[in-house]
Amino acid sequence: QDTLRIGSIPADGIGKEVVPAAQLVVEAVGVPVKWISLDAGFEYFQRHGVALPQSTVDTLINSCDGALFGAVSSPSHRVEGYSSPIVALRKKLDLFANIRPVISSPHVPRSLPGINCVIVRENTECLYVKEEQLTTTASGHKVATATRRISQEASARIAKVAFDIAVQRAREFKRPGKVTIVHKANVLPITDGLFRETVLAVSKESAYKDIIVEEQLVDSCVYRTFIDPQSFDVLVAPNMYGDIISDGAAAVVGGLGLVPSANSGNNFVVAEPVHGSAPDIAGLNIANPIATIRAAGLMLQQLGHDKAARAIEAGIQESLRRGQTTKDLGGSESTHSAAEKIASHAVAALARG
Ligand code: NAD
Ligand code: MN
Repeated sequence: QDTLRIGSIPADGIGKEVVPAAQLVVEAVGVPVKWISLDAGFEYFQRHGVALPQSTVDTLINSCDGALFGAVSSPSHRVEGYSSPIVALRKKLDLFANIRPVISSPHVPRSLPGINCVIVRENTECLYVKEEQLTTTASGHKVATATRRISQEASARIAKVAFDIAVQRAREFKRPGKVTIVHKANVLPITDGLFRETVLAVSKESAYKDIIVEEQLVDSCVYRTFIDPQSFDVLVAPNMYGDIISDGAAAVVGGLGLVPSANSGNNFVVAEPVHGSAPDIAGLNIANPIATIRAAGLMLQQLGHDKAARAIEAGIQESLRRGQTTKDLGGSESTHSAAEKIASHAVAALARG
């Protein structure tokens, strides 16, 4: 079996705790892997003046099969010369699809039952092209403007990803597939209108003829996420709507500590948790490592290590069942000990076959 070469980019805050925890689990299930430690993040920026060194990008492109990313601490005030490295990485590696499975866990008290959906978020444009401008009116008042770019090309390729996932899930779960198009075309008929039209055009392709298509305005989509999340199968959304809905969806399955994501391009994947660097709990060894461990599982799945990925999820389920969880889920495990328990249950699951 070829050794996987995986870039490890913990970056900031709890990223530095949850990424090593996920590495421990991947190694435990016997995946042959060489980790390549790579720099990025706000802390790195403060020391070196750059948030995403070119060497990190080059190493990923030239000598890695995939990467595991932790989280960055992007400040909310403007910092000269700083720009979020994960947003840049998604763009530089053309990781155009952000795939976020959201699934109920039977043993998590705050999880609603019966949720099993995938949020497919466009990952390269929308407001996150970050073209912002500040001007001043004649009367001296500031006006800030941002470009929101929606292209037919990017909308079509994200639509294909969403419909392919819906087809795959329909087969796997032996029931009809459904794609929900999230937009606000009633207010933004040009930008969101183009997204909507393009996704609808893709839905007409013969490969997708059995997939049910529905539309949901983004605000009522948030409402439905809290009221009736069980009714979703695959959601496809422009970048920012997908970002916002993902955190809401995480809330109804028990919290941000549980939900993973995969940034996928045509031939590369950077997996990461949906959550951020959680400065309020960073350095305390209490962050829930499950989101990042699941992200590693998504990455392994995409790299052809299905069996290991399934064992890891079984290990997580067993840990949840036994209440071997971190504080956010009411348990008393540390980040590290929670990962160790998941690892041992995953190994047991592998042995059972
Ligand atoms: P956050 O996701 O970091 O945290 C939100 C809340 O959830 C906090 O109370 C935190 O303690 C909790 N939480 C998050 N992950 C957890 C885990 N694994 N276990 C237990 N609790 C967890 O969002 P925020 O507080 O709005 O943002 C903090 C920083 O993270 C900001 O600087 C922001 O820019 C950055 N951020 C980065 C990413 C990324 O790297 N992709 C994503 C979102 C936010
Ligand atoms: Mn987010």
